[in-house]
Amino acid sequence: MGDDRKYPRHGLIMVVCAPSGTGKSTLISRLREEIANFGFSISYTTRAPRGQERDGREYHFVSRDKFIAMRSRGEFAEWAEVHGNFYGTAIQPIHDMLAEGKDILFDIDVQGALQLRKAFPTGIFVYLLPPSKAELERRLRGRGTDSEESIVRRMENALGELKQAGEFDYWVVNDDLDQAFEDLKAVYHAGCNTPGLRPEMVENMINSWRDNG
Ligand code: ADP
Ligand code: 5GP
Repeated sequence: MGDDRKYPRHGLIMVVCAPSGTGKSTLISRLREEIANFGFSISYTTRAPRGQERDGREYHFVSRDKFIAMRSRGEFAEWAEVHGNFYGTAIQPIHDMLAEGKDILFDIDVQGALQLRKAFPTGIFVYLLPPSKAELERRLRGRGTDSEESIVRRMENALGELKQAGEFDYWVVNDDLDQAFEDLKAVYHAGCNTPGLRPEMVENMINSWRDNG
């Protein structure tokens, strides 16, 4: 791992996408627990809060009118319509966190990820794959949160989503959970060491070596 105190860097954007049921939420919460430098991007959504969700914690819950007004003012880095609701990421908090050197881990859908890639080309984009069709279905059923109709729809959507995996930088197969977690951490640490996050580092080194004869 690089020495971030000696060679400060900009924050890293890491985006993880996967067909529903693959294990994205499970792995993202483990990454957030283990990597202290991740800041939170709280999305805006027009869907209603579920269960224990609170405004400003899981999401900023807003009306369709407010969302559309924000969108037309260009306040979103990306937005998408998912299952009939709008979701979007406000651009200003991202710039603020990156300038502070905070990394940001995004849990957004594929359409949003591809927009974010245009706005933030130094980001790393990871596609998480289920080990098989049968295992994906088993996980969706085992989770016990989705109706039969929703499971069928998610399985149908999964095939279309898999076809977009080619747009991503890394593929991680979530077969064994611990192995997938190690792979995601390896991708994160590699991302932290890309030149785009420390654009002046080598130039400064060269100048100081020259100055020191
Ligand atoms: P997603 O956020 O991608 O929809 P979840 O994180 O909710 O998926 O995981 C779906 C289900 O699969 C959960 O019950 C979770 O505990 C289980 N799961 C996740 N990863 C694995 C794995 N590697 N092996 C077995 N079960 C897993
Ligand atoms: P849920 O309503 O279950 O919380 O989320 C549904 C889907 O919306 C998930 O696939 C999640 O990744 C995606 N999502 C959540 N926030 C955003 C966002 O800000 N932008 C985009 N494009 N998708 C999001």
